[in-house]
Amino acid sequence: MLKYYSATDVGLVRKHNEDSLLVTDKQLFLVADGMGGHAAGDIASRIFVTTVDAALQDGENIDTQDSLRNVFIRGNQAIYISRLVHPERRGMGTTATMLSIREKTAVWAHVGDSRLYRLRNGELKQITRDHSLVADLVENGSITEAEARKHPHKNMLMRAVGVEEFVQVDTGEFAIKDNDIFLLCSDGLTNMTSEEEIKQLLAADDGNKAAKLVQAALDGGGLDNVTAIVVEYHE
Ligand code: CA
Repeated sequence: MLKYYSATDVGLVRKHNEDSLLVTDKQLFLVADGMGGHAAGDIASRIFVTTVDAALQDGENIDTQDSLRNVFIRGNQAIYISRLVHPERRGMGTTATMLSIREKTAVWAHVGDSRLYRLRNGELKQITRDHSLVADLVENGSITEAEARKHPHKNMLMRAVGVEEFVQVDTGEFAIKDNDIFLLCSDGLTNMTSEEEIKQLLAADDGNKAAKLVQAALDGGGLDNVTAIVVEYHE
């Protein structure tokens, strides 16, 4: 049995919420964090979510790594074409992190710096890898995790959906265990909270965990739009 919660908030500083999310009864979950200014960011993330939603409405099964990658490529094309048609949307693009639950298998696809986490036996694990400059710098040993959190170019993405004609998509899958908890979130959550705080709120046994995570990001400063989807699996 799946239990899920979602929440999103514009935050305390920004005027637009450029994050979009999708929660469906087809056990597919998606967070997209748009960018591009002049309200184009929310258009990009919404085009991506709409592409996925339309495919589901058409009866498409989006529950294998290939089918997830395929819908990412179509979302990429839709945003890219919109950029060509509307020059004022030139800078737009979006991150996208998607999770599909197929029986006892979790299948995911990802581009950008939104994240998928899994809480299992009290251990919080980041499943996706950020496609950001600072993640690359941490990986090659140039800076520490702590330095990454304060880096002036923390927001610079190395990969995003809709920016180029083709997009390289990370995908993966793993077997689900009883009581696994999954979190999909935008960087407005991870930049405003600590992983320890996220872990405690996910493990706590009450209420809408997504709303509590979003509230924690607002309490932490709310400098960005913040979005969280929490999915719990219980046998
Ligand atoms: Ca963001």
